[in-house]
Amino acid sequence: MTTQNLPVTLGLPLDPPEPVPGCDVCRALAHQRGEAVRKGDLSRATDCSIELRNHPHEAGTA
Ligand SMILES: [Zn+2]
Repeated sequence: MTTQNLPVTLGLPLDPPEPVPGCDVCRALAHQRGEAVRKGDLSRATDCSIELRNHPHEAGTA
């Protein structure tokens, strides 16, 4: 059983944004966010969520 979609809604003020598939930056940010949540560093987790949400993508590519 894979746990791709971890429940990251541990009291975070923001809805955790979805990392864009195929984007290394998004994947890294999602990973960092997971680590931060595990360490209980919610402010860092929130920072990662904000960065994830703001990461620009060119819509319509592929
Ligand atoms: Zn991205």
